[in-house]
Amino acid sequence: MIVIYKSGDSSRKKHSKNMAYKNYIIENWWTLSQIELVKDTSRVWVKKTFKTTSGFWTEIDGGKLLGKTSNNEAIPPGAIADNTAWDHEHCELCFETISDKEGYQPEGYTDGKEWLCTDCYNKYLAPFRNC
Ligand SMILES: [Zn+2]
Repeated sequence: MIVIYKSGDSSRKKHSKNMAYKNYIIENWWTLSQIELVKDTSRVWVKKTFKTTSGFWTEIDGGKLLGKTSNNEAIPPGAIADNTAWDHEHCELCFETISDKEGYQPEGYTDGKEWLCTDCYNKYLAPFRNC
């Protein structure tokens, strides 16, 4: 999995630090994209049990990169399909592993792209959403 972090938003005006996030719990170590995730009420999170799914490996610069197979996409030329490659996700907020493997919590919330563990969803998102 590739995780891209935003390192900061230089276009932000200085006084914006006074902008209160008082309606949300914001951890001081979160990146901007994590804060946006919590505040974005247009994203619909659905409780789901994680199931290992297929992925494919591509070789890039001597390393291997795992991609997730999606229904409407063919795997790239030269990629190697692996039916059990995609065996876990990470919570976007605390990086807890969500997996159907033994020893991990299999349930979480997903918007179809990213995952949140149940604890984070209940703590950070549920209080500010109607569902
Ligand atoms: Zn979490």
